[in-house]
Amino acid sequence: MLIILKMSAEKFCLCCSKKIAGRTDKKFCNSYCRSTYHNDLLGDKTNYMRQINYLLQKNRRILATVFATTENRKAVPVNVLYLKGFSAMHFTHQLKTSKENHYIYCYDYGYKMVGKSHVLIVQERN
Ligand SMILES: [Zn+2]
Repeated sequence: MLIILKMSAEKFCLCCSKKIAGRTDKKFCNSYCRSTYHNDLLGDKTNYMRQINYLLQKNRRILATVFATTENRKAVPVNVLYLKGFSAMHFTHQLKTSKENHYIYCYDYGYKMVGKSHVLIVQERN
């Protein structure tokens, strides 16, 4: 694309790829293409953030549910979370006070690994 532009000095619309006539600093052939291009770009970003937010909230809901149904704050098998659709790669923040105390949070609910197969779920108090 760069080579073509250099050789011919022709510009092509970023949206529809048609040749642009007129001013050389134009990036789009018309305002329709300009707004379509920017809307698509923004739309993708918005969808991406929406997906991540959905997963974070889902994780929080799973942690909250398991936390509420676990007696005496016992560690639970990590599979309990995964079976509900928990996504370990999505979290909001981490808290590490020592090697053994490494908490991973989804908003106000977090967990730490206990051994290799269990997690202890905690609720952050604000
Ligand atoms: Zn166009």
